[in-house]
Amino acid sequence: MQTLNDRNFNNKKALIRVDFNVPLNEDFMVTDATRIEAAKPTIHKILEDGGSVILMSHLGRPKGVQDQFSLRHIVSKVTEIIGVQVKFVNDCIGEEVEKAAEVLQPGEVLLLENLRFYSEEKQGDVAFAEQLAKLGDVYVNDAFGTAHRAHASTAVIAQFFKGNKCFGNLLAKEIESINKVLNDSQKPVTAILGGAKVSSKIGVIENILDKVDHIIIGGGMTFTFVKALGGNIGNSLVEEDKQALALEILAKAKEKNVQIHLPVDAIVADDFNNNANTQEVDTNQIPEGWMGLDTGSKTAESFAKVIANSKTILWNGPLGVFEMESFAKGTIELGNAIATATANGAFSLVGGGDSVAAVKQFGFANKVSYVSTGGGAMLEMLEGRTLPGIEAILND
Ligand code: AMP
Repeated sequence: MQTLNDRNFNNKKALIRVDFNVPLNEDFMVTDATRIEAAKPTIHKILEDGGSVILMSHLGRPKGVQDQFSLRHIVSKVTEIIGVQVKFVNDCIGEEVEKAAEVLQPGEVLLLENLRFYSEEKQGDVAFAEQLAKLGDVYVNDAFGTAHRAHASTAVIAQFFKGNKCFGNLLAKEIESINKVLNDSQKPVTAILGGAKVSSKIGVIENILDKVDHIIIGGGMTFTFVKALGGNIGNSLVEEDKQALALEILAKAKEKNVQIHLPVDAIVADDFNNNANTQEVDTNQIPEGWMGLDTGSKTAESFAKVIANSKTILWNGPLGVFEMESFAKGTIELGNAIATATANGAFSLVGGGDSVAAVKQFGFANKVSYVSTGGGAMLEMLEGRTLPGIEAILND
């Protein structure tokens, strides 16, 4: 795999696709700079080699040029994090941008305006990609969050850098981490899949059945499985049309010797509300009018045992409605179990928007081996798909 460290960037202009799609508050201040921090090692390596850096990214979902989505809002934050005064141009292609790139000196950093101000970016327009490509000598893709998109700056552009393209450190680390779970893992391997729906995780479940020893199921998905098995789930979330699929997954798992662990008890509530009345009941005996919103204490104990015996752990999706304090306990206890297993030598990978939010909120981010920066991209990799952004670098 072509990585950054195989190259020397002395006197080179590196055009880096980063994912600086960061959240801004109403004063346009960056409220979570994780994605900027994540790009730092790549940028520093190039600058330290004596190269210059041209950063390109999208921000939000603008419709044409909209100032609220301008990347100028993040210039001071990027400057602060990188430690070099970042220059900014009001566009991402065209004469003015080409000039700014041309006069860029070794050690300097230039940030381009939002790529998505042009609809050509998402369309994967070749001419637009070619315009961008004029700006640098080497193309570096370090944007895992958009690696599953065949956009101009994430994939199409790579064809203009034959022999002069590579993964950034972040993207390489993401690939390596997923590889460590799916293809190069130490057994036993346990995947924990939570979240709302079976339908959004089915591709992942099917692909990992050949690669893991245990699958822990939690979150809203639980109840489709429990109902399919004949349990009473009260008013819990259910995908009626996915019950047959749930049974099929259970049968396939048995065939492949994969143990599926479903929650045996649940915290149920009489309303989807933090202040609702709650009780703890068996998952297959939920009374009418009550809904399961978190895993119960017997479940936490049994899941913790499986995790303690695992050498490789993948976690995608919360075990309950963790956004409400009353239903966060199952997710917190799971995080604790994963942190303990990691401290004891297991490799743990956490990914997917909501589980990443949970590990950050509850302080586990530094207690797991790797927290992925890509939600959709990670899911697609776990589904066994080849991502366009990755393929474009590998196909030279
Ligand atoms: P996903 O994006 O599929 O990973 O789903 C994450 C969402 O699932 C979070 O917002 C959770 O609040 C929600 N969730 C987790 N458990 C449940 C549950 N038992 N009932 C309803 N929603 C849930």
